[in-house]
Amino acid sequence: MTKTAVAPSNLGAIDAAHHLHPFSDMKKLNDAGTKIINRADGVHIWDSNGKQYLDAFAGLWCVNVGYGRQSIADAAYAQMQELPYYNTFFGTTTPPATLLAQKIAGHTRGKLNHVFFTNSGSEASDTWFRMARVYWKALGHETKTQVIARKNAYHGSTVAGASLGGMKWMHEQGNLPIPGIHHINQPYWYAEGGDLSPEEFGLKVAKELEDKILELGEENVAAFVAEPIQGAGGVIVPPSTYWPEIKRIAAKYKILLVADEVICGFGRLGTWFGHQYYDFEPDLAPIAKGLSSGYLPIGGVLVSERVAKVMIEELGDFYHGYTYSGHPVAAAAAIENLRIIEEEGLVERVRDDIGPYLAQALQSLADHDLVGEAVSVGLMGAVQIAADKATRRRFAKPDEVGTLVRNQCVDNGVILRATGDRMLFSPPLIISRSEVDQAVDTLRKGLDWLK
Ligand code: PLP
Repeated sequence: MTKTAVAPSNLGAIDAAHHLHPFSDMKKLNDAGTKIINRADGVHIWDSNGKQYLDAFAGLWCVNVGYGRQSIADAAYAQMQELPYYNTFFGTTTPPATLLAQKIAGHTRGKLNHVFFTNSGSEASDTWFRMARVYWKALGHETKTQVIARKNAYHGSTVAGASLGGMKWMHEQGNLPIPGIHHINQPYWYAEGGDLSPEEFGLKVAKELEDKILELGEENVAAFVAEPIQGAGGVIVPPSTYWPEIKRIAAKYKILLVADEVICGFGRLGTWFGHQYYDFEPDLAPIAKGLSSGYLPIGGVLVSERVAKVMIEELGDFYHGYTYSGHPVAAAAAIENLRIIEEEGLVERVRDDIGPYLAQALQSLADHDLVGEAVSVGLMGAVQIAADKATRRRFAKPDEVGTLVRNQCVDNGVILRATGDRMLFSPPLIISRSEVDQAVDTLRKGLDWLK
């Protein structure tokens, strides 16, 4: 196989001259100089200065099987030689696209039996959004078009994805949200729970869904969307009362329940999908990230029998799709990725071994003066920085505090992410106990430094 070209020594200057990065202040980035990542293996990445980092964030929540899997590269290479591309429009498919759909459906306990492929989680958001409206229209409910989502959620960067997301600063760019999308609160007890217990607060926030349905009129509401655990919004682990109440309300009003599984899917919570952890059955579920562990771009929407039946028997054509929906090379890589997760028992490993270990390790931070709470489910965790633990008071500038601690961790060789003043963990599912210790100890050092 041919090797990729060696990067020129002035790559940083070339980058500054030509490359606009996502989610980046380009002026600051160009002034500081971009970090060039040029190699990875297992749970580690290396920059162009040869510095090694423990990637406790799995890229962007996605490299579930870890880096450097030769068999995924081989599967992609073999597929590229056999059939590099053909589409799944207009009456054709390719073996990898079809077999991948079967394999994914097999992990949904038969509940979400169909898959519509996309190239990303954002496209998956746009896809289910249209699907939900099309579903109700096909059933003759023309007015059921409104969608309820949550504040601070992240569902992607396309126009529908960013509108469904609840991040104000994203809405401010591009006049979003588009009409027909409404946001209710997320169950962020630490910051917003006041004097209520987490259980009372979970119930209160879930009830906002019912209030919003009644305000909009049941006959106008198509769907409610939420991540089983809100990810980019800060790993907001919901109180135990939250999902049962959401499940009850969605069933009572028969709206479509959409679980965004882009982060929670494929083992992160110690179950194949996040809704299985919280014991509810969504009607639609966008997926991406861990589907291929990021080796190639691929996403999709899992579709329940309820919706698939209407799409297949009532709708006729669904005028929606992407040139690369079910791309055979990406699908071949995803099949091999899922085979690895199955063969190595990574979901069970997260559930029974390394997930509980991370929970324990994070708990060891709970006595730190600056730690308000340390929570995790499986390998998705957050440490809340507090200015005053007793009163749950936060620092006046949460973003600055989080960024300072995060930068300390990166300087000390561990990649974590900060959302405001919450420090987030989402490592590859293969991370070892000693690597968990390293990540948590590095965070402790970062917090000590802030004191
Ligand atoms: N949904 C969730 C929950 C996500 O976290 C993300 C990305 O982080 C997306 C959707 C969008 O996925 P993508 O970046 O692949 O478009």
